[in-house]
Formats: sequence, C-alpha cells, structure tokens
Amino acid sequence: MDDLTAFCCQNPDCRDFGRRGHGHLTVCMRYGQQQQHRLLYCKTCKERFSDRKGTPFFDGRLPHDKVLALLHHLAEGCGVRQTARLVGVSKDTVVRYALLAGEHARPLHDELVAFSP
Ligand SMILES: [Zn+2]
Repeated sequence: MDDLTAFCCQNPDCRDFGRRGHGHLTVCMRYGQQQQHRLLYCKTCKERFSDRKGTPFFDGRLPHDKVLALLHHLAEGCGVRQTARLVGVSKDTVVRYALLAGEHARPLHDELVAFSP
C-alpha cells in the first residue's frame, strides 16, 4: 500500500483540493525508469496527476516580484485562474504556490511583504 498522506489533489476546482491524507487519492499508474513516479488519481474529481506535481518547493524560476504578486492575489481571494492571468504565469505555477501559501509559505509571504516597497 502506498503512503499518500503527503499528497493532495492538485485540481483547484476539486472540493478536496489541498487536502491531505483524506483517502481520496489512489495510485493508478507507475512510470519512470525505476517506476519511481506515480500517477495519482483523485476519487473526488476523477483527475489524474503526477506525484511530482505540487511538491512543495520553490523552483526559483519565478521572479521575486511575480511570487509576491501571486501570493498577494491569492491572499486577496483571487481564484487560481484569475491569479494566473493577472500575474502572467501558468495555472500549475499558481497551484504550486497556492499549496505552499496554505501551509508553508505564510512566513515567507510575510517576509516578502515586509521587503516590498
Ligand atoms: Zn480531486
């Protein structure tokens, strides 16, 4: 049995979006050279996504001001699509940062805001 408690649904429209260890995820496929990656399936919204997606890390490709704008829009209650459009990034990027903002990024957000002009 795979331990999927660290993963959550990556579909922002899903009512289990961002929820971990809820039992709504199953492994529907393995891939990669050592079968090291899993394709996860959400029973709630029927979406499939890679277990690499949504891993909480900053990839560093997004400029500082974009990260700040993105987090601001999310904090203001903008949806993922709206934020993506306003900031000019992909929906996936917003989702990744949204997940971070929900759990890990609040200190970072506060730090970024503190340094903004
Ligand atoms: Zn889902």
